[in-house]
This record gives sequence, structure tokens and C-alpha cells, in this order.
Amino acid sequence: MTSSPETSGPVVARTRDELRAARKALTGNEIAVVMTMGALHDGHATLIRQARASADRVIVTIFLNPLQFGPREDLSRYPRTFDADLEICTEFGADVVFAPTPDVIYQDGDPGVRLSAGPLGDVLEGQSRPGHFDGMLTVVAKLMHLTGGSAFYFGQKDAQQLLLIRRMVRDLDFPGRVISVPTVRESDGLAMSSRNMYLTDSDREVALSLSRALKAGAAAATEGPSAVRRAARAVLVAEPLVLVDYLVLVHPTTLKDVPEWYRGEALLAVAGKVGTTRLIDNLPVLVGPGGGALQVFSNPDQLGPAELR
Ligand code: AMP
Repeated sequence: MTSSPETSGPVVARTRDELRAARKALTGNEIAVVMTMGALHDGHATLIRQARASADRVIVTIFLNPLQFGPREDLSRYPRTFDADLEICTEFGADVVFAPTPDVIYQDGDPGVRLSAGPLGDVLEGQSRPGHFDGMLTVVAKLMHLTGGSAFYFGQKDAQQLLLIRRMVRDLDFPGRVISVPTVRESDGLAMSSRNMYLTDSDREVALSLSRALKAGAAAATEGPSAVRRAARAVLVAEPLVLVDYLVLVHPTTLKDVPEWYRGEALLAVAGKVGTTRLIDNLPVLVGPGGGALQVFSNPDQLGPAELR
């Protein structure tokens, strides 16, 4: 186990034994955990800062999970910036950084037993990335056990991931609370993402149409679902260099398209390819009177109306 050069820096644990020792040394009731794949940016920093503000101790995990990448995805080119990541963890007050290699997490190789995300894992991101959510939930479950945390912070940026983690915790009675943090954006609206590093200057301009589309959709929220979809689609149609994978307005917990009569909270989500980079973004919106964009959902564990399940 190593301490970073600054005496006040987090303890860096690479192995299970090192994590166990570091975890044992943490005092306090509330142990918050922020799970990341590294290449940390202000979005991750915000999660760490929020965790720091409300918990006694903070563990950040940095693990590029091979199980959630498909064979044709970007695992090999995913940015690896451990030294800069450690600086951010230090600056925002992490107590422990757990940065294992795959053989530490999957000590017997590919796990024969893994979690299944079920039908919610087959739609939207799951349709383009088969098996992604099973791999994601499997590692989140393992990291929840290994860290022994009591509060787990996840970003609204990955809305379907967040929903599935909430469902896993409820459906399988995992201990601990899931806390969602609103999406952190660049000043021009682009949602922060480690994958933004892949974008060329011109890609980046094109990519702005994703958040613009969401904003336009949310601005039409008082008029009902089809107005939201129409306004968002109009922005994307005007930017043919985004290869749109999906643009949907769905119920936040069932991910089913909301019908025209629906009024209430809904998820406006988009995914598309810009250049060689697949990007996702979303906005929680209130559809109906007084409607518009929301930061996060007001009651994220509530199941939708029966007709939307
Ligand atoms: P990742 O390293 O991409 O797996 O992300 C780790 C955590 O940070 C996840 O809970 C993400 O949802 C969250 N996250 C990533 N980008 C953002 C962002 N722009 N705003 C808020 N949270 C984010």
C-alpha cells in the first residue's frame, strides 16, 4: 500500500489486501464510494466533492472494467491518466483510491456467475451494447462488496446505468444508498465525458447539437410529449454529421416511451456517433404545466404507472 507523495493525499490500494487494510483504518459511519473508470474530469470531481460534503470518508475506485466493453468497443484506446486522476482525488479529498488491475477484480478470470440487468438492460444503450449492463452491474456489485461503502454516488449523465444500479440495490436487497448527481456540463452545454478526449475540434462543434437538442426538447415540455420529441429531433436533423442512434422520451423507471396523454417526469435521452466517438446525453424533464428541464428525478425509485410498465 502506498501513500501519495503529499502526506495529505489518499491511500492508494492496488490489491484486495491493501483495500481491506485501508478500509479498516477508515473511521466514521458514512463511507461514500465514487466508482470511475479513470480519465477523471469535473463531472467525476463533482461526485467526489458531493460525497466529501456529506460522508465521513470517501473511497474512489478507478477501474477500467473489461467486462462492460464489447469486442468492437474502445477498451484499448480508452484514456488512461492515473497520475492526473490521483491529483484530482487528492484535491477533492478522497481518503482511499482503489485502483486494481482486472486480475485483482476477476481473480479466477472471466466470472462464470454474473449479474443480469434483465429487460431494462436490453433497450437504449443495451441495444447498441449487448452485455454492457450485465458487465457493469457485475463490477458495481463487486465494488460495493469490496469497499463496504454505505453511500454510492453515480452521475445522472449515465441515466440507464443509474436506473439499473438503483434496481439492483432494491431488487437484490443490497445494503447502502444510491445517490444521483446532476450532469456536469462544459460552459457551452456539452456533457463532460472521458470520451470527449477523442473529439477533434470540428467533432466537438458537431457534438454540441446533442445537448442543444435536449434543451430544445425540454423547452417544449409544457406542450406534451410529441412537442418535446419534435423540437429535439429538429435540432438533430439540422446536423447531419451526428449519426443518431436513438432520441427518446421515456418514463424514468420503465424506459418505455411515454404516450401523448402522459404528464409528469420523463427522461429525454439521446445517443449518437460523432466522428469515431459514440456519445450519450440526457435531460430529466417535467412534461406538462410548469414543465421544463429538471436536475434529477424527484422520486427515482418510484415505479411508473401500471400502463407504462
Ligand atoms: P465513468 O468513469 O465514465 O464510468 O463515470 C464514473 C461516474 O461518474 C459515473 O457515475 C458517471 O455517471 C459519472 N459521470 C461521468 N460524467 C459525468 C458528468 N458529466 N456529470 C456527472 N456525472 C458524471
